[in-house]
Amino acid sequence: MLSYQHAYHAGNFADVHKHLTLYAVIDHLLRKSSSVTYIDTHAGRGRYPLDAEETRRLGEYRDGAEKLWKARRRLAEDPLLADWLEGVASAQNKRNPKILDHYPGSPWWLAQRLREQDALQLFELHPGEHDHLNRQRLPDRTRRVHGDGLSGLVEALPVATPRLCVLVDPSYERKAEYGDVADTLLKAMRKARHAVVLVWYPLLPAGRHEALLDALKADGLRKIWRSELKIASPRQEHGMYGSGMLVINPPWGLDRRLADAMAQLAPVLGDACHYRDDWWVPE
Ligand code: SAM
Repeated sequence: MLSYQHAYHAGNFADVHKHLTLYAVIDHLLRKSSSVTYIDTHAGRGRYPLDAEETRRLGEYRDGAEKLWKARRRLAEDPLLADWLEGVASAQNKRNPKILDHYPGSPWWLAQRLREQDALQLFELHPGEHDHLNRQRLPDRTRRVHGDGLSGLVEALPVATPRLCVLVDPSYERKAEYGDVADTLLKAMRKARHAVVLVWYPLLPAGRHEALLDALKADGLRKIWRSELKIASPRQEHGMYGSGMLVINPPWGLDRRLADAMAQLAPVLGDACHYRDDWWVPE
């Protein structure tokens, strides 16, 4: 069963949180010249026209990317947000450079900053979503796989480059996915201990993400940094009340850069919007 389509949610507050974190991680990796393989286990379509019927139906981008777009001059005082918003601007339809008409997804963010020496692997299981992804213009060093990103990740390891960065961004349509993600990460980290791994999860009243966090913490071998962006209180909300990101083996200084950016960004998303982060460090 694959019913989730990211086009319904493209550009929402959770995308903003996820892609800003991804952008900052890539930025840190690009400070060294040694090559990086990027693996996106749940790629989606790549770039989302905001006038698509699915995207207009829920209009979630209006409470996410569009609010930031409107406040972009003020937000650009923060260096990370300035660079990220420039990235968003470069994903727009060139005929209307002032209008937010597209929102770039994770394959776009990864491809945009891919250097000659780097490689990119994109997994997408949904046939329709994979067709969309196939239509994107992406660098030659990109491998697009129509298949399961979790088993695909483990099979792809070890990679040929000295460094590896993985984004795991499932739709969590099935309750078992939290456990599947944890099992996959434990296997993958045994094969690639040095990998920088980003995992997105939703904050839902059922709190199922806690089991994922507990499994990774119990492994206890690596530094894990977590950040969460909450837009409402769990008691008020039946649906998703926030967005969570884990980064395993985070680059040094990532937490400070995100905290500075989020201090500017959160009030633009709403009065109730609240950002926090914390660490697990092996003893
Ligand atoms: N990472 C994308 C981005 O940031 O733009 C969004 C991805 S969306 C949240 C999740 C995607 O994973 C959907 O397109 C869905 O079809 C796909 N998917 C679901 N299960 C999958 C699996 N086992 N392997 C690969 N892709 C999967």
